[in-house]
Amino acid sequence: MINADHGSPLLEVRGVTKSFAGVAALKGVDISIVPGEVHCVLGQNGAGKSTLIKILSGVYTPDAGDVAWQGEAVTIADPTAALELGIATMYQELDVVDGLTIAENIFLGHERSIGGLLKVRDANKRARALLERLGHPGLAPSREVASLSPANKQIVSMARALSRDIKLIVMDEPSAVLDSEEVRNLFRVVRELTREGIAVIYISHRLAEIREIGDRITVIKDGRTMATGLPVSETPTPELIRLMTGRDVENVFPPARPVADDAPEVLRVENLGVHGVFEPVSFGVHAGEIFGLAGLVGSGRSEILEAIYGAIKPTSGEVLVRGKALHVGSVPTAVANGIGLSPEERKSQGLILEQQIYRNVTLSSFARFARGGFLNERAERSTARTQLEALELRPADPDRAVGLLSGGNQQKVMLARWLVHGTDVLLLDEPTRGVDVGARAEIYGLIRALSAAGTAIVVVSSEIEEVIGLADRVLVLAEGETLDIVDADQIDESGVLDLVMKGSAA
Ligand code: ADP
Ligand code: MG
Repeated sequence: MINADHGSPLLEVRGVTKSFAGVAALKGVDISIVPGEVHCVLGQNGAGKSTLIKILSGVYTPDAGDVAWQGEAVTIADPTAALELGIATMYQELDVVDGLTIAENIFLGHERSIGGLLKVRDANKRARALLERLGHPGLAPSREVASLSPANKQIVSMARALSRDIKLIVMDEPSAVLDSEEVRNLFRVVRELTREGIAVIYISHRLAEIREIGDRITVIKDGRTMATGLPVSETPTPELIRLMTGRDVENVFPPARPVADDAPEVLRVENLGVHGVFEPVSFGVHAGEIFGLAGLVGSGRSEILEAIYGAIKPTSGEVLVRGKALHVGSVPTAVANGIGLSPEERKSQGLILEQQIYRNVTLSSFARFARGGFLNERAERSTARTQLEALELRPADPDRAVGLLSGGNQQKVMLARWLVHGTDVLLLDEPTRGVDVGARAEIYGLIRALSAAGTAIVVVSSEIEEVIGLADRVLVLAEGETLDIVDADQIDESGVLDLVMKGSAA
C-alpha cells in the first residue's frame, strides 16, 4: 500500500481550470501523484476526466492553475513536452496507426527515424523485448496494427509508452473495450509497471475494478475535485457514490415494493446442477419479484443463469416456467417459453455492435417481423423507437450502430430487446457493468419497473451491494454451493461476505 506521506510527489496539480468556448469543463482540479501508485480518477460522464488527462499530456493547456513535476513548476505545452517529462498517455480512442506495423507504431516519433533493413531489424528486436516485458511475446513486431484486437492495440500503446523513459502512464478508460479476461491481463501489466516504480493514473467508472487495482482515488464532479488521495481500502463504496453523484446511495436504488402475497411463481429451478461447476440449486421466483445471486467470482453465479437459459447443459434438475417443465439445455426452448438473458459480456455475447439499434432490439423477435421471408424493417424500426423512447435512450435513433453507444445505453438496448419480446423471466448478469453511476440509477429504475409490471427477475452482480439493493431475496453462493437464501432487507454486504467466508472454509 502506498503511503502518500512517504513519497514526494511526482506530479502535483493545483486549481487547474479549462473552458471551451465559454463552457467550463474544469473549474478547479487538484490531484497529486506519487511514484509507483495506481491513482484512480473517478467521475460520471462529463465530469472532466478526459479534459484533465489531456492537460497532463499536453493536448490542452490550462486556463489557470499550477502543475509541478518532481517538485518544479512546469508548462506542458504540447504532447512532445509531456513525453520529454516522462508522461505517456493511452487515450480512450486508441491512437495507434492502422497502416503501420507494431514496431513502427512503438517507435513512431522517436528522433532516429526507422529506415533501412538494419534499422527495421533493430526496431523489431527492441519491440519484441518490450512486448515480452508486457507479457505478449506472441505478438510479432512486423504485424500490421490494423489486424489487432482492441486489447492488443492497447498493448502496443503501452509498449510505445515504455519505449521511452516514462515515469507516469495515464490510461483513459482502458477497460471499456476489453472483456474480463483482457482486463485481468491489463491489471497484470499495471502491477508490473508499478513494481518498477512507474505511476499509473487509471480512469474508470467501474468501482469493482478500482477496488481491485487502485491504491488511491480522486473523485471529480462537474469539473471540480470532490476528494483527492482517498485510500481505496479505507473508502466505502457509498461514500464514493455520494462524492460522484452528490446523492446518497439509498437514493440510487429506488424503493422496493413488497411482492404481492398471491403473486404466482413464474420461474422454478429444481435441483438444477452442472457437474463440476455448481451443485444442485433450488429456488422459485414470483411475478414481480427480483431474486439476487450473490457470491464471489467463480462461485457459479453466471453459470446458474446460463443453465436456466439453456446456454450450458445441466447435468441434473429441472427448470419450470409457470409450472411447465422445459426441455433443458436449449436456448430456443427457453426463449420460446419466455426466458430472456442479458449476459455479462454484452459486447461479445449479447449485442451485435456493428448492427443498428433496431436490429439488436428485434433480434429475439424476428418471427414477429418476418413477412414472406423478409424482415419488415419499418415495423422493426418503429417498434424499436417506441421502446427507446420508453427507456429514455437519448437520442432515440434506432438507426445508430450499437457499438457507438455508451455502456448504459447498450444495456438499455438489451433491456429493450426483452421488452419487445415480452419475457416472463429476465436473467440479468452484471446489469451495470460498464455503466456510469448516473446511468446506473436509471437502469435500476428500469429493472424495478419491469418487475413491477410482473416480470420475474434474477440478477447477478459482482457488487454485492447492488444485489442487495435491487433484490427482494438473495441466494448466497460459494464455490458452486448454495449457502442460504435470505430476505434482502435482513442482510448487508458484510453479512454476505461472512457467509461466503464460512462457506469456503467448510
Ligand atoms: P469525462 O471524460 O469525465 O466524461 P470530459 O473531460 O470529456 O469528461 O468532458 C467534460 C466536459 O467538457 C463535458 O461537458 C464536455 O462536453 C466538455 N468538453 C470536453 N472537451 C470539449 C471540447 N473539446 N470542446 C467543448 N467542450 C468539451
Ligand atoms: Mg472521458
